[in-house]
Amino acid sequence: MSCIAVAFGVNVCDNGHMAVVKYVNVVNPFDQSVAGTVPHAEIADCLAAVDAAHDAFDTWRATAPRARAEILRRAYDLMIAEHDQLSRTIVRENGKVLADAKAEVTYAAEFFRWFSEEAVRIDGDYRRAPSGANWLLVSRQPVGVSLLATPWNFPAAMATRKIGPALAAGCTVVLKPASNTPLTAVAICDILRRAGVPDGVVSVVVPEPSGPAVTAMLQSGKVRKLSFTGSTPVGALLLAQAAERIINCSMELGGNAPLVVFDDADIDVAVEGSMLAKMRNGGAACTAANRFFVHERIHDDFVEAFTKRMSALVLGNGLDPQTNVGPLVSRKEQDNVAKLVDAAVAQGATVVCGGKRASDTSFGYHPTVLTDVQFDNAILREEIFGPVAPIVRFNDADDILTHCNSVDHGLVSYVFTRDIGRGLRFAEALETGMIGLNRGLVSDPAAPFGGVKASGLGREGGHDGLLAFLETKYVAGNW
Ligand code: NAD
Repeated sequence: MSCIAVAFGVNVCDNGHMAVVKYVNVVNPFDQSVAGTVPHAEIADCLAAVDAAHDAFDTWRATAPRARAEILRRAYDLMIAEHDQLSRTIVRENGKVLADAKAEVTYAAEFFRWFSEEAVRIDGDYRRAPSGANWLLVSRQPVGVSLLATPWNFPAAMATRKIGPALAAGCTVVLKPASNTPLTAVAICDILRRAGVPDGVVSVVVPEPSGPAVTAMLQSGKVRKLSFTGSTPVGALLLAQAAERIINCSMELGGNAPLVVFDDADIDVAVEGSMLAKMRNGGAACTAANRFFVHERIHDDFVEAFTKRMSALVLGNGLDPQTNVGPLVSRKEQDNVAKLVDAAVAQGATVVCGGKRASDTSFGYHPTVLTDVQFDNAILREEIFGPVAPIVRFNDADDILTHCNSVDHGLVSYVFTRDIGRGLRFAEALETGMIGLNRGLVSDPAAPFGGVKASGLGREGGHDGLLAFLETKYVAGNW
């Protein structure tokens, strides 16, 4: 791990690719101190990591599923043993509060446990053709070298949600984390090395800027799979690049989740669910509730109870146990949230609480509730990615479905009603990949996570997550 641009698997210095190692400084979003450094990967280093993954592929795919499973299970055990240390690393580089970071490490580790169990359940099929003339034999094979690119908002979970199924399927990988949060990714890859992953099977590279290095890896001719989590515009760009070589793609992209509170909802349940759906990770989640639609009959009661909870949240250093909300990851993210709120207010929204930046030098923004938001307010069309809840009052329950489905994104929706039949009918008609019904959290390693429309292609987690790293092979035969 010392003088390398790739965490392990390829020692770049030994290969002579790099005489001088440059380092990338990782900034703590609370006070802008240096949270740590990682070796900077040149394009040649990224290609060396792809070569190493390519060289290691035949041996790894032939490794017994049980052996691959046991390595993933050891990685799970190590993550749990090192839970506190990993959580603190996340806070230092991402800014989120320690409670959120701890929840993330547990969630992230569960992907290793789940896929250690899935590694030994790769199925096939053996059937007689309907004509009776021959046999149909279907098996599954690992896709091949996989490039995994992840965002800054869940630096541990987005990495394990991809590495777990890839290794379980028999793929070798190169992980490219977001450059503002690479420390967690490097720590997880070191855990995998200690769990017994052989050299070359997992590498992590931190090129800056990312674009040219990712393009070079996609054009290397050795990458067979791109699994990307990040914004929709970057996802679209990478899909176009992957198309040049017909690379298999999974895309987990942006969201713009509606949260509907019908007039028959239990208000306490709706407020509890709204806090989770909005404030997990300080609002910096693709699943974050972005558009609150509340029926006029319960609007005022909901706003009062929800605002009480939002305004009680303490903004500050994520490592301080008194803090409930940490800073955003960068000045750019803070500026973006401030701009959206100011524009919403200019369009007629009322600030019920928050509506301002942190008073210290951090990149924080106060938890904010906006009311009097109209359906045409621009804030409803953007992914806010911060602790801001715009609330729209509605009276036509039939019409609200059209508003929910009126955006390009389709990741997740939240619905609160006591009438489960109504909730399920509504869920059926919503154009999103996931729905939280009387619940503000949908993420679960055992469930298929993913979106429709501009929110992406494919699913991660559950059995689908494993299938994303497998190709189907069919043999027609007579024997
Ligand atoms: P981003 O698109 O800016 O970056 C994601 C990754 O792509 C990073 O590793 C980044 O370094 C890399 N990247 C950026 N520009 C690139 C380029 N031109 N070529 C190649 N790689 C490039 O996203 P972000 O700001 O890190 O994350 C926030 C976004 O991620 C939000 O839109 C959020 O909704 C989305 N997200 C989606 C999910 C999901 O599961 N659907 C989960 C988490 C985050």
